[in-house]
Amino acid sequence: MTAAASGLARRLGDILGADGVLTEAADCAPFLVDHLGRCRGRALAVALPRTVSEVSRLLALCETERIGVVPQAGNTSYCGGGIPDDSGRQLVLSLKRLNHIRALDAGNYSLVAEAGCILSQVQQAAEAAGRFFPLSIGSQGSCQIGGNLSTNAGGVNVLRYGMMRDLVLGLEVALPGGRVLEGLSTLRKDNTGYDIKSLFLGAEGTLGVITAASFKLFPQPQVRATALAALPDVRAAVTLLGELRAASGDRISSFELIPRAAIELTTRHIPGVTDPLPGGNEWSVLCELSSSRAAEPLDALLEEALAAALERGTVRDAVLTRSERERAALWKLRESIPEAQRHEGASLKHDISLPVVALPDFVARAAPWISANVPDGRLVAYGHVGDGNLHFNVSQLPGADRERFLARADGVRRAVHDLVREFGGSFSAEHGIGVLKVGELERYASPVELELMRAVKRAFDPHGIMNPGKVLRREAAAADA
Ligand SMILES: Cc1cc2nc3c(=O)[nH]c(=O)nc-3n(C[C@H](O)[C@H](O)[C@H](O)COP(=O)(O)OP(=O)(O)OC[C@H]3O[C@@H](n4cnc5c(N)ncnc54)[C@H](O)[C@@H]3O)c2cc1C
Repeated sequence: MTAAASGLARRLGDILGADGVLTEAADCAPFLVDHLGRCRGRALAVALPRTVSEVSRLLALCETERIGVVPQAGNTSYCGGGIPDDSGRQLVLSLKRLNHIRALDAGNYSLVAEAGCILSQVQQAAEAAGRFFPLSIGSQGSCQIGGNLSTNAGGVNVLRYGMMRDLVLGLEVALPGGRVLEGLSTLRKDNTGYDIKSLFLGAEGTLGVITAASFKLFPQPQVRATALAALPDVRAAVTLLGELRAASGDRISSFELIPRAAIELTTRHIPGVTDPLPGGNEWSVLCELSSSRAAEPLDALLEEALAAALERGTVRDAVLTRSERERAALWKLRESIPEAQRHEGASLKHDISLPVVALPDFVARAAPWISANVPDGRLVAYGHVGDGNLHFNVSQLPGADRERFLARADGVRRAVHDLVREFGGSFSAEHGIGVLKVGELERYASPVELELMRAVKRAFDPHGIMNPGKVLRREAAAADA
């Protein structure tokens, strides 16, 4: 360790205690690489505060010393936002010890959680009080609330409940320099000037460190009906979504597109996953209705709606789950697609969103392009199609040369993202910008948007110490942080 680094570690130790600072290479290693091994960095140290006051004092020190601070939560995100650069001059700030549920008010349908709480911990706390916290994503056993807020996470319940932004009532944030924004309101209505909290949601740690948040809770769903329906094409998925919304009085909470390729990958690579609808159908959707009214006959409703869709030809085949075990098996199929893709080999990933009605035409243009231009890959386009979000991924074919396949990434990304723009969509639906999509943001955001984003960054973080180089390229004045 250099003299400067050991001096900093000592001063951090004064704030955080000896066990609050990691400097040994082996201790720091897990914090320096993302879960896909795509982004790696080095750091001066890893800080593990336990309280807001410690975070605030740490930020004051780092601003004085112009040290870049990289907040890290569960380290499950896809764009490298929580990993330091390779200068070795940044500090990783892990929130994992700031992990208490501070309050739960069942009557007010609200909960206050610290940033380091694991998402499933928050879901369970709500459930124990007879309430429902609807954010649900495949990484919920390890991602943390601070990361969910900072990426504005989406997941499988967005159709009914919205993204993380829609669930937040207030935030507590430690700002560069050490001031603390104390905004843990549980009010539903509060039109008192600019909505400052909103700026931190999806900011990926570039404006401040979220230390806690207050959330809306909902009535616990009492009944669910879940089915897998096989479809002729993506247009049928959009039609079926409309039909189910109308037939169920909008009881639909999830609507996930699953292509044949994903069923083949999961049944091949994930133990216990089976194909519930063998027959070679190109597309399926996992649809789920839910209600907090126990007497609601959702199974009958879904069965009827799917039978009608079968007659009209929207649906080719369908299976309804009859037990929690069958439901879990269907969700396992859906949730294990990313893992199955990893086992298959390399992937080119695109987290895109489009107006729902544009999805069929987009896929009709993009899929043939992939077949013609990526001979060593196979399209695996799946996702939260109920809210227009497709993980438009391409998996390496077995036996293909990994490096040659990965060398196509830039060309494929450009073709896919340009087409997304032509259809009025977004190149980043729920995974954010991090370090990997900074160039994409510069390409697709308007000059006015970029100018305003840079102005916001300067207003909150004039010395550029917060997660430098993420979301926006560093400005010359902040280049040393
Ligand atoms: C199997 C799997 C399934 C997934 N499914 C989904 C899905 O359906 N929907 C979805 O949206 N995402 C999904 N993801 C991506 C990922 O889980 C989410 O982006 C999640 O919200 C990231 O949380 P995290 O705790 O891992 O954050 P991290 O990866 O640690 O950090 C993410 C960003 O937030 C910043 N940050 C972290 N904590 C704070 C804080 N306290 N204050 C300020 N900034 C902070 C970091 O600097 C970084 O920029 C999935 C990932 C996996 C592995």
